[in-house]
Amino acid sequence: MSAAASIDPVEFAKSGQVVDEEHGVNAFPRVVDAVREAGGDPGEGGIRYRIEGRVRRQDDRPALRVRVEAEFVLACQRCLGFLPVRVASERELVFVPQASLGDIADEEDEADFLPDHERLELSAAVEDEVLLSLPMVPVHDDVSCRPVVGTVETIGPIGLRLIDALDKH
Ligand SMILES: [Zn+2]
Repeated sequence: MSAAASIDPVEFAKSGQVVDEEHGVNAFPRVVDAVREAGGDPGEGGIRYRIEGRVRRQDDRPALRVRVEAEFVLACQRCLGFLPVRVASERELVFVPQASLGDIADEEDEADFLPDHERLELSAAVEDEVLLSLPMVPVHDDVSCRPVVGTVETIGPIGLRLIDALDKH
């Protein structure tokens, strides 16, 4: 199945279907944008995902278990060095009639409730999960991380290299 495929989530859940695939990161443009905006490199790697449909035993509601796995290189916000980040997370999407959405919001931490009459694009579900799992402020957690002195926001890593080069002359 292509990452851009869309499914009827209720049908998918009730028939217990499973999609277990890996697609190149370029199939997920919102992830590429977010990683680049964080000063990182989305790389050439893929995003692995498994979407598993089921009907929940506790409330008979159709649900999808969405699991994602990927690796990116982000920029450390303290030293601007490369920071490999591994994303591995999962969430349950539960489908309910629009009218009852308001009553059950925030009921469960690990589940999101969505209206049951809309189609679901696989890539959008995967993108959402990856974006939620990226660190808000990526920083190294070891001694190799040395803070950059100065206003890194305005000059950035290329500016720093230029200043270094000028100092040596
Ligand atoms: Zn660092």
